[in-house]
Order: sequence, then structure tokens, then C-alpha cells
Amino acid sequence: MQNLQNFVNYRLNIQLQQKQKKIQQLIRPEIQDMLAYHVPEASGLIKLDAMENPFCWPEAMQKDWLALLSQVEPNRYPDPSAQEMVLALRKCFKVDSQLGVLLGNGSDELIQLILMAMKAGSRVLAPTPSFVMYQHIAKALGMPFIGVPLADDFELDMPAMLAAIKLHDPAVIFLAYPNNPTANLFKDEDVLSIIEASNGLVVIDEAYQPFAKKTYLHGINDFPNVVVMRTVSKLGLAGLRLGFLVGDQALIAQLDKIRLPYNINVLTQVTARFAFEHIDVLDAQAEEICQQREILLNALNQFAGVQVFNSAANFILFALLNDSAERVFDALKDAGLLIKKMAVTAGLPDNCLRVTVGSSEENQLFIAQLTSILRSE
Ligand SMILES: *Cc1c(COP(=O)(O)O)cnc(C)c1O
Repeated sequence: MQNLQNFVNYRLNIQLQQKQKKIQQLIRPEIQDMLAYHVPEASGLIKLDAMENPFCWPEAMQKDWLALLSQVEPNRYPDPSAQEMVLALRKCFKVDSQLGVLLGNGSDELIQLILMAMKAGSRVLAPTPSFVMYQHIAKALGMPFIGVPLADDFELDMPAMLAAIKLHDPAVIFLAYPNNPTANLFKDEDVLSIIEASNGLVVIDEAYQPFAKKTYLHGINDFPNVVVMRTVSKLGLAGLRLGFLVGDQALIAQLDKIRLPYNINVLTQVTARFAFEHIDVLDAQAEEICQQREILLNALNQFAGVQVFNSAANFILFALLNDSAERVFDALKDAGLLIKKMAVTAGLPDNCLRVTVGSSEENQLFIAQLTSILRSE
């Protein structure tokens, strides 16, 4: 019996080794070295970790939407170019008719499309910390990624940025405007200097535009190497997975060739179009979130041991001066609140946490819990 068990274990071990060998043989080493993008389990928790809009739609609007959905034919392929949705989108966001629009299954997919289209050996540059997907997707595609740490005040470190652009001549530069996780808008003069210094494409990622109000969307006609990326995720439609890239028509047409034909599904097309036609509801929600942000900033600023950074987005970054981010994060989670603990990164102080601005009730609960947690050191 014991011998049989040994034999079975031996066989299992051999099988495992063979599987690992196969993976090593087949999968590119840079992918084997990557960490999977981790999304924490959130069931039963109040989600203040992912910059989602906490509000739902008025009942009448929900009803109209469900009526539209009931007419969808899930047995049919979607319109590959989502024409009706794009018309509504152009109108809603006032996209210049001279500019092209590329659709992505979330702006994550747009980042992937941009990078996939670049020539072999192209390099990708972004300030750090910034949105992790720039680096994650560059790595997955085997493209060298150059991260340039932000200055202490989270502004772009311009001497370092310009030197890195000169040295590495990146094909693509990503600038999140406002930046995630630092929540600030970079200075216009710095953004313009980068655009001028770059031989490659400059992608201005305006995921948080609904809360920042500032945009480059209406000023890019004169800059053929600048594209503006938007998403409906933070505006309140994260579940739809819809992002769009606006830029020079000829450039967008090239990128559109490698977009998978049906990347925007029928439910998303119908729902997004409906939402764009009711943008006043989403705009009002964004306005409420901006007001809540000011209340939350003010409340966080009352804590002596907390350094709060200003925000032009729907989240707030703060650093604990005399406490561990891990302890506070865990204690909040035990109390039913999920926020984000920032990894230790160049360009960021130690012990940083990031909280999404929620509804008034959620924010008050967060502040109440934080008060008792910071008191119980
Ligand atoms: C959340 C976020 C995105 C991703 O948006 P999706 O459209 O949901 O993929 C892109 N850029 C930044 C800076 C973000 O924070």
C-alpha cells in the first residue's frame, strides 16, 4: 500500500515537472516573470477601492433602459463599428468631426491596441507612480518600459522626463491627467514641453475627466502626435467596459485595423448610447461626487497624523505619518470598508492609502471608522 502511494506521488511529481517544462518552453520569459493583475475580493464590503460611482439611476430611467434592453437580439453580432453609439458619444462629449474615435473594451484595451501597433523594439515611457496597466501591458508585449519617478510634489520631474525622452526616444508616452494614484493634474506647460520633446505618440489618459473638468480633447487638432483617451468607467458605467481614444483620423484608422471587430458588445452599445442621451444624470452624479470629495478632503485634513494630497479626481491619496498603512487598511477591512493600500514605489511617500469618494453615508462611515482606528494605536 505504501509502495503504491509512493509510486502515485512519484508519477504526479513527474507530471508536474513536465507541465512546468512545457510552460517554460512555450511562454515568453517576461510573461512568466509577471505578476497577475490582482483584484481583491470585495463581497460584503463597502467598496471604496476602485473609483466606482456609488449612485444608481432614477427609477424612471432604469425602467426606460430595461425596456431598451428587452429589444436587444443577443443571437446577432453587434454592429462592429457601433455607429449609433458613436454618434451619441460624439455629440455627448463634443468630439470634433475632424477627429477619429477608436473604441475599446475599457480603456485598458485601448492601451493594449496602441502598444500592439507599435514597431518592434519600441519603448514605452510614463511617470511613476501612475496607472499600472501602462507597464503591465508593455511588459506583456515584450516592450521595454521606462518609469520616471514624479517629483516630491507629484509634479512631473521635467529635467528627468526630458532626459529620459532624449535617451530612450519612446514610441509612446502615457500621461494620466489627472494622475492615478496621486490625483493631481500635471502643469499644462509641462505637458506641452513633453509633447514638443517627443518623437512618439503622447497619450493623455483622461479617465478622471468628469471630476477634473479640465481636458485636452478640444485642443489636439494641431498636434498629430497627441491622442486623448477617455473611459466611461469612472463616470458611472464601469461594468460596461467602454473606453474611447480620440485623435488624428488617419492614425485612428490604422489602430482600428487591429481592433477585434466585435469588441463592443450589444448590451454595452445600447446601454452606453442610452446613458449618453441622459448624460445630465451622470453629470449631476459627478458633481455630487466632487462636492463629497471636498467634504472628505476637509475631514481627512482634521487628522494630525494624516498627510492629505489634493485631488482633481474621485479618489484621495493620503499618507499615514505615524502609523502603518497595512494596519489601518486591515482594520478598515475588518470594519467592512475596502480601500486601497498603495505598494511602496519610487515617487510615493511610505504608508500611503487611496480612498474612492463614495456616497455621503459611505464617506461618513469611512471617517468614523478611521477616527476610531487611528485613536486605537
Ligand atoms: C481606471 C483607469 C483606467 C481604466 O479604465 P477602464 O476603461 O475601466 O479600463 C485608465 N486609466 C486610468 C488612469 C485609470 O485610473
